[in-house]
Amino acid sequence: MSDETLGPADEELVRVASLQRERAYAPYSRYKVGAAIRTKRNKIHSGANVENASYGLTMCAERSAVFGAVGAGDRELEAIAVVVAGDEPPSPCGACRQVLYEHGPAMRVILATTGGRRRVTTLRELLPDAFGPARLGAGS
Ligand SMILES: [Zn+2]
Repeated sequence: MSDETLGPADEELVRVASLQRERAYAPYSRYKVGAAIRTKRNKIHSGANVENASYGLTMCAERSAVFGAVGAGDRELEAIAVVVAGDEPPSPCGACRQVLYEHGPAMRVILATTGGRRRVTTLRELLPDAFGPARLGAGS
């Protein structure tokens, strides 16, 4: 993993994700996560993880952000930043990778820590040979 320098648009995305992280509700894992998505319309939608006493109902930050974007009618995702505290940048779970793929198969993924570490990758790298709408013959 390398620490990378980001352009201003990606740094802004990390900044928004960091602010959103402060709103995470994670009393059980204490692993607070913030996410911010930039869409092709150049809008930013953010989300935080929201845990629940019934653990299985917990929602990740990444999917919270995707659902906010799609719910706002903004379906074409261009980039996501995901921010956590600690030494290692986060790694989106499998469920989030699948949900991100639906609306942004070529999206850029910025994984960052509050301490300034950054890893830049792509969804295609995180989820190769993905299942998506094209396999259903549904298009978008
Ligand atoms: Zn997830």
